[in-house]
This record gives sequence, structure tokens and C-alpha cells, in this order.
Amino acid sequence: MSEKLALVTGASRGIGKACALELAKAGYDIIVNYAGNAEAAEKTVQEIKALGVDAAAYKFDVSNKEEVDKSIAEIIEKYGRIDVLVNNAGITRDGLFMRMSEENWNAVINTNLSSAFFVSQPVVKIMMKQRSGAIVNMASVVGVSGNAGQANYSAAKAGLIGLTKTLAKELGSRGIRVNAVAPGFINTDMTKDLDTSKFTEFIPLKRLGEPEDIAKVVKFLAVDADYVTGQVLEVDGGLII
Ligand code: NAP
Repeated sequence: MSEKLALVTGASRGIGKACALELAKAGYDIIVNYAGNAEAAEKTVQEIKALGVDAAAYKFDVSNKEEVDKSIAEIIEKYGRIDVLVNNAGITRDGLFMRMSEENWNAVINTNLSSAFFVSQPVVKIMMKQRSGAIVNMASVVGVSGNAGQANYSAAKAGLIGLTKTLAKELGSRGIRVNAVAPGFINTDMTKDLDTSKFTEFIPLKRLGEPEDIAKVVKFLAVDADYVTGQVLEVDGGLII
């Protein structure tokens, strides 16, 4: 076991998986959280182990406080510390505001925003004891700019940005840094059904992002950026300049 541990939520696929691999390259052992896709999570674990660090998959629903509390207690019992937390797990349930069901509102708010409250609280407790730690929250450019058809998702991501800045102020004196990344359009399962060709026209860098584009910035904020806290870094090819 190395001495540093990172917990990445929603790390079985997409951006979370890329973050897990990038942190593994930086020497962190990795906890790969996932919701249901055990095969993908196990594949991520094997890819991480091939980089020479340890990894384990933990299935828990980040929107369920009881499941979160139980799993994080198990992780802390086993590993004794958590140095980096990436609150990445997220979903979309898009639809115009006037037709949005309460169910779709709650699903997105709970999975994308309340999850960060549930997961961060027990993690911050151990980070406070360590007097060190870094949290990176996965926001979105739509949390900054808004987006028609994504009232639930934009509100959740804007909420994450508020949480990021507040925790940065509350936890800085304890040696804990809290930042957020706001991705634009990234090639993952989440965007695979969108006709993204029409978006590239509006992106100064003329391409969609790849999960690795986000992961490099997450690793920078989590590992390298010792004097950076409370920041939201847009990683969007210039989409919302
Ligand atoms: P993705 O490919 O759909 O992957 C989602 C990941 O989250 C999977 O690992 C999934 O686990 C996990 N997950 C979903 N619900 C969960 C729950 N309740 N508990 C635990 N894990 C859960 O998504 P992505 O595109 O990589 O997005 C990752 C993050 O980036 C999200 O927060 C998203 O909002 C944000 N983001 C994405 C984009 C984009 O263009 N893709 C842009 C801006 C922000 P399973 O594999 O087990 O289902």
C-alpha cells in the first residue's frame, strides 16, 4: 500500500475513471466508487493496479446517506485515511422546466448535489484529523451559465459551486483545500445520445473534451495546486468565455 488514498465517486466509467487513473499515476491508491456497473468498476480497478498502486471497488449510492456513511466508515476502518476526494458521480434527467417532474428534479439534486454533502461530511472529519486533504467537486459549465432543458442539473451544479467556495472558507485553516472543475461537453456515456456536432462550432478549440482533459485538471487541483482553494476551473475548450 502507498501512503496516500484517493476516493473517486462514479469512477467506473467516463470522467471519474479518467480521474482515478490520473491520480493513480500520481501514486495514490484509489477507491473506485460506482452505483451498479460492477464489471466496469472491476475493469477500472485492474487498470489502476497495472499502474503499480492499490485499488478497490466500493458499490454505494452517493444519494443515499445511510449507504454512504456505512461505506466511508468501512474505507476509513480499512485504510485509516483519505487524502483526496473527487465528488464526481452524477446523472442527467433533462426536460423543459414546465414539464419537469418532481421525481426528475429530486433524482438530479440528490445524486449531483446532496451526494457531495453526504460524502464530504465523513471524509472531512478524517481530513480534519489528518490536518490535510483536498476535495475536487465535479461541477459543469451549465452551473455557471444555465442551460435550457437542464433546470435540475444546472441548479445542482450551481449548488456544488456554492458548496465548494463555502467549504474552502470553512476548511482552509484545517489544511483542507476545496476546488471545483466545470467541464463543458465531454465525450462520455452521458453525452453519447446528444448531437454534439452542432456544439463544436461554438467551441473555440473546435472539439469536444475527452475525460483525460478533465482528469489532468482534477489532478492539478488535488495534488499540485498547494495555494489554490475555492476556485472553479472551467475546462470547456473556451465554450463559455
Ligand atoms: P457517465 O459516463 O454517465 O458516468 C457516471 C458515473 O457515475 C458512473 O461511474 C456511474 O456508476 C456513477 N454514478 C451514477 N449515479 C451514481 C450514484 N447514485 N452513486 C454512485 N455512483 C453513481 O458520466 P460522466 O460524463 O463521466 O460524468 C461524470 C461527472 O461529470 C458528472 O457529475 C457529470 O455531471 C459531470 N459532467 C459531465 C459532462 C459531460 O459532458 N460528460 C459535462 C459537465 C459535467 P455506474 O457505472 O455504476 O453506473
